[in-house]
Amino acid sequence: MKQSIKKAAVIGSGVMGSGIAAHLANVGIPTILLDIVPNKLTSEEEQKGLTLSDKVIRNKFTNTSVQKLLKQKPAPLTSKSNLALIEAGNLEDDIAKIADCDWVIEVIVENLEIKKQLFEKVDTHRKPGSIISSNTSGISIEAMAEGRSEDFKKNFLGTHFFNPPRYLKLLEVIPTKDTSPEVVSFIKTFGEDVLGKGIVLAKDTPNFIANRIGTYGLLVTVNEMLEGGYSVGEVDSVTGPAIGRPKSATFRTLDVVGLDTFIHVANNVYEKVEGKEQEVFRIPDFMNKMKEKGWLGSKSGQGFFLKQGKEILELNPETLEYDARKKLKTPALEMSKQAKGYSNKMKALVYADDRAGNLIWSILAPVLSYSAELLGEIADDIVAIDQAMKWGFGWDHGPFETWDAIGLEQSVLKMKEDGISVPKWVDEMLANGHRSFYKKDGGTTLFYENGTYKALEVNPKVVHLKTLKETKGVIKKNSGASLIDLGDDVALLEFQSPNNAIGLDIIQMVNYALEEVDKNYKGLVIGNQGKNFCVGANLAMILMEAQDDNYFEIEMVVKHFQQAMMNIKYSSKPVVAAPFGMTLGGGTEICLPTSQLQASSESYMGLVEVGVGLIPGGGGNKELYMKHLNSMPQGLEFDLQKVANKVFEQIATAKVSTSAAEARDLHLLNNKDQISFNGDHLIHDAKQAVTSLYDAGYTAPVRRKVPVVGETGYATLMLGAHNMQYSGFISEHDLKIAKKLAYVIAGGNVPLGTEVDEQYLLDLEREAFLSLVGEAKSQQRMQHMLVKGKPLRN
Ligand code: NAD
Repeated sequence: MKQSIKKAAVIGSGVMGSGIAAHLANVGIPTILLDIVPNKLTSEEEQKGLTLSDKVIRNKFTNTSVQKLLKQKPAPLTSKSNLALIEAGNLEDDIAKIADCDWVIEVIVENLEIKKQLFEKVDTHRKPGSIISSNTSGISIEAMAEGRSEDFKKNFLGTHFFNPPRYLKLLEVIPTKDTSPEVVSFIKTFGEDVLGKGIVLAKDTPNFIANRIGTYGLLVTVNEMLEGGYSVGEVDSVTGPAIGRPKSATFRTLDVVGLDTFIHVANNVYEKVEGKEQEVFRIPDFMNKMKEKGWLGSKSGQGFFLKQGKEILELNPETLEYDARKKLKTPALEMSKQAKGYSNKMKALVYADDRAGNLIWSILAPVLSYSAELLGEIADDIVAIDQAMKWGFGWDHGPFETWDAIGLEQSVLKMKEDGISVPKWVDEMLANGHRSFYKKDGGTTLFYENGTYKALEVNPKVVHLKTLKETKGVIKKNSGASLIDLGDDVALLEFQSPNNAIGLDIIQMVNYALEEVDKNYKGLVIGNQGKNFCVGANLAMILMEAQDDNYFEIEMVVKHFQQAMMNIKYSSKPVVAAPFGMTLGGGTEICLPTSQLQASSESYMGLVEVGVGLIPGGGGNKELYMKHLNSMPQGLEFDLQKVANKVFEQIATAKVSTSAAEARDLHLLNNKDQISFNGDHLIHDAKQAVTSLYDAGYTAPVRRKVPVVGETGYATLMLGAHNMQYSGFISEHDLKIAKKLAYVIAGGNVPLGTEVDEQYLLDLEREAFLSLVGEAKSQQRMQHMLVKGKPLRN
């Protein structure tokens, strides 16, 4: 069994290779990135006197790709500093370096012969026992290993990442008959635990699982659009969130992927299958014409959609002209919108006889039947197919889960009426009285396989809070939060308000949780499994009270919030928050005073209150200032003003981290705080952190005074803010907010270096917060955020 990947090599520095190298660097693995050597110079290079033997030219491809990593959006790197872990080189001068690598990943052009030639070279330079894999989208893994040494074959497999590698969860792992089971098992664990991926074992067939079914589904949709006379915009209006799929639906997804890439992937299956299936993979003429015209989607500025000024136009596949974007609106869609739960929503659509219903049924039914037909050929069980579609294409439900949701018996009857083939095993399954692919047996989920039901493998690192609540119940619950028993004497506080916004109910539950944990548990996790950890305080409530002049109410809430945060900080038992996704404003404030953070690598944290005309009101100013102070080298003198400046700037500009690594650079995380690369492991990891803290003899931190910059520091902070206003960077109202913020950060009217109580800083914060809530322009900002979902600059 391989122990670890201490160093890796990625060969091919294009779109995928550079993204994979970046992701390896994100998780801390030094990576060599290699590519071919250019065979000619550009005229510009010639003019500079460069030659083909100069290093800058020889490493040109990789150097360019590495530099691009800094500019790409969404960012492939979690922190720019990770770039230092990537060493650029070329396949002629640096191939011997792969002898130091535990994993060599091939990510070069999709061509069997070129890949085979490269593997021959790799075979001679790699160290025995090192893992080699290919990121091919669909070439046979077995064919690539032909002619290679025995040790190579034993350690060779497919590792198919999805674009962009940092963000897309799916990693298809494709062993050959020669791959050693230890290697497969190692890569599965490494991929899940270290790279944070969702691993699906796929068979060595064209395009593996997700792209085989995904491409089929997209082409079925294109064909239905043409036959049914729907428009591009109409199709997108019903094939996204309305059926539990990403907002990019069908054609926006194609625009993002790029038509050339899509056609390439589809052709790969077209060339390898026969009959009816092959016909589906035939690219319609109008798409080939689009490709000829270079209308490839986002990368070429136009595709199925074209942005003209503020308007988005849709392509008319018949005329190849762009028209105004249309949307479908039908009774079935309305019914589905009103229905509760995925199953009812889907049933309202697929069994309805109107334009939306007919379209959804006719694109869904063939995909369900196709997925069932391919079972055994592309994957061993239905779970692998469902997971691949969810992780690779962002569907909320896999094909078999969807089939269950619309009712297996009823849908099979309808398929037969409509002449859609139903695989024999599904017919047999129904004939034997099995009416769903999945079913529950107590807390266990079972899935259908070969005539019986098998228990779904339980991954101890993946905690499902919903199941936990169903099986173990909740300790206490109110309208905003629940306290749950996580097992092993650890409790969890879960937010469950709309958008997980913090209101009085959550604050009350924090206090209750701390009391309960103090008596009966080892510690507390603050976490949830919503879309985002928490988008901030309940703004609607604050605005409503402010408009009613209920300042007394607001002051009470803010006081409770501040006190609850102090209770977290000085809790006798460890409290670990587990932020992920958007963790903004109050969401960050609740993280800052905890004993330790266990943050998802994808955590977007920041004190963003100025965007809504306020400053943090739950102790965030003080806690961020103290986190910055604590990051200063112990025992050495430092400039307090510089710390105040940094904190002031961070809050005044509403700086949000684009990852947990960046949150650490912003001191929202400190060195003790931990990062989970697999978001699905977050609650498990946070629970472990609580246990470790408890076992290490956790005690509440000692209360201490805080040195502040005071009056003179305030003047310095305001100087910067005034300059910004004179130069037109910030508005008059921004300046007013900056003034309040500066006063709080500076610690008010005291001499430089005065050591003050935390409570004194909280009182300053509360006063400033309340005065801003009363400002008309701040209320406009809040209103705008609530209605439009983005900040207003006034
Ligand atoms: P790309 O065209 O962006 O990059 C290919 C790289 O291969 C380039 O850097 C090129 O210089 C290098 N190359 C060209 N000829 C070479 C040779 N003879 N020897 C060595 N290197 C050579 O392509 P990509 O999109 O990054 O795809 C790379 C691989 O990943 C392909 O196998 C592709 O099927 C697969 N893949 C792509 C995607 C995607 O969305 N683009 C997704 C999953 C898998």
